[in-house]
Amino acid sequence: MGDAMLEALGRLALTGPGQAAVLAGATALALAAPDVDLLMLRLLHHRSILTHSVLFPLLVLWFLPALGPAAVAGVALGVAVHFAADLLSPARGFGQVWLPEPFQVSLGRWSHLWLLVNALGASWLALAVLPPGARGLALGVGVVAALGYGLVRERSVLSALVALAVVAGPAAWDRWGRGLLA
Ligand SMILES: [Zn+2]
Repeated sequence: MGDAMLEALGRLALTGPGQAAVLAGATALALAAPDVDLLMLRLLHHRSILTHSVLFPLLVLWFLPALGPAAVAGVALGVAVHFAADLLSPARGFGQVWLPEPFQVSLGRWSHLWLLVNALGASWLALAVLPPGARGLALGVGVVAALGYGLVRERSVLSALVALAVVAGPAAWDRWGRGLLA
């Protein structure tokens, strides 16, 4: 026993499991986070443009940098899956994305485009903040989140498929782009 074992333990703490737990935990927490607008209905309409945007994970990046890239990536993946599921409701009433007080107007038929762009943006951000070696793990966590949220919470195969596309899209695009450059 001795140095070799301690060294191995140290490496373990620095890499995989610690970061993986942060990533998975942040994703799980962020899945429902955009709907905190329901708690602030005086200021924010439900499906507020402020909470239903890529701003959410960016706030973590800017104000909580100590949590590290895994936390930013996790929040980004969670909200990306949430926006993907929200994409499927018709752009009427609560299905639309709304500006906050004092405007309280909706984006109307642009709501879906807003959700799609922000879902893809958040999914891309998750990959962009992580070191290349952690991106496969993030993709795995994103796939589990997409299937779990779509099938269990939304009870919709279509919702799971759209969320999968949003999670895997930027990763596939990135690979394709690098393949072209190689
Ligand atoms: Zn929502």
